[in-house]
Amino acid sequence: DAGRHAGTDRYPEAREPLAAVVGANLQAPLVGGGEVRYANLDYAASAPALVEVAEHLEEILPFYASVHRGAGYASQISTSVYENARSVVRAFVGARAEDAVVFTRNTTDSLNLLAGCVPDGLDVLYLDIEHHANLLPWQARAHRSVGAAGTLAETLERLRAELEGGGIGLLAVTGASNVTGEILPLTGLAALAHEYGARIAVDAAQLAPHRRIDMTGTSRADGTDTGIDYLAFSGHKLYAPFGSGVLVGRPDWLDAGRPHLAGGGAVREVRLESVNWAVGPARHEAGSPNVLGAATLARAAQALGALDPGAWHRHEQQLRDALVTGLGEIEGITVHRLFEDSESAIGVVNFTVIGHDAGLVAAYLSAEHGVGLRDGKFCAHPLLARLGLPAGSLRASFGLGSRLEDVERLLAGVRELRTHGL
Ligand code: PLP
Repeated sequence: DAGRHAGTDRYPEAREPLAAVVGANLQAPLVGGGEVRYANLDYAASAPALVEVAEHLEEILPFYASVHRGAGYASQISTSVYENARSVVRAFVGARAEDAVVFTRNTTDSLNLLAGCVPDGLDVLYLDIEHHANLLPWQARAHRSVGAAGTLAETLERLRAELEGGGIGLLAVTGASNVTGEILPLTGLAALAHEYGARIAVDAAQLAPHRRIDMTGTSRADGTDTGIDYLAFSGHKLYAPFGSGVLVGRPDWLDAGRPHLAGGGAVREVRLESVNWAVGPARHEAGSPNVLGAATLARAAQALGALDPGAWHRHEQQLRDALVTGLGEIEGITVHRLFEDSESAIGVVNFTVIGHDAGLVAAYLSAEHGVGLRDGKFCAHPLLARLGLPAGSLRASFGLGSRLEDVERLLAGVRELRTHGL
């Protein structure tokens, strides 16, 4: 096996995809008439649908009808499927009983929705390591931004200094970096925001597909709540199809805020020149909702919720370690990270091949080695500038279908590139 390498032999368990280890069923893409397994190392962009998600879709498709608007049988089923999806999502993220679960198009949509609901007079605070989805909605309103430091400890101190100034209503932060995979210390960040009377919104687009999240948190000895006030994520990164996302969180701002979309279903009463908006999720879900999107997102959440967290994290960590170790053994490769003291990371590894354009390397790895990576700036331009990578870099990311063979194929490709050039 030309791809095998000493650095990866330490992880026999990771030879199987996690889906096989934990008994989940994944739609694994095959190319060339099914003869070649394409090494998909781009789960962070979108994850392939789980088989049970696809089956659920088929199951509910015949009953696909307008939600909340019809007395007919199909409409009743669709309505119950849609509302049940809210309950499943609520349980998946450990939401408080009073939290609203609003279905959206994706994480971007969820954060834009929230931006329209943060009360006037309060600033939103964010770091320069965010995906544009968790940066631009805030940039368009009253905000403050802080540059991250080389350590998480110092970064938290910088946020504290800004919070101490007062006037901040919301700290918006990613759960895990979509560029380096590093996980942010959400408990500490939540406590910090709450200490200064601010709330915390977590962009969980990357975290939710990899870690259990508990929004409720705990109350510390000094009474500080470590819970998450708002959480946003997308179905298509969670092994469900495109087109659905969710915002979960405290209902007061959402019920008082500007309705995300104006239209049918979001109102109590309409007169020709005035409207009485509904409260609750309906306020932000005008128009016919994406029932299939909500239902498949929820089914994927249910499947992830049933995974054994120990096996899940160990598998992913082994793949990550194998790749980072393997890349470290090849001359001319730099692996990038943001924080010296970050303790955990999801299955995302960022690197550059010195002297080679990231886009060309990605194209070469795809064409010559059947490895799918992402290259570029990952919708995080300020972060790439912080890392000193204005021309972009490469990102390999894992998920339920990933296995050691994929990592070995990537390492073999990079080694060959270093030996023979492009
Ligand atoms: N936030 C993070 C951290 C992401 O990685 C992404 C997608 O890459 C998004 C937000 C935006 O997600 P979506 O395109 O589904 O809205």
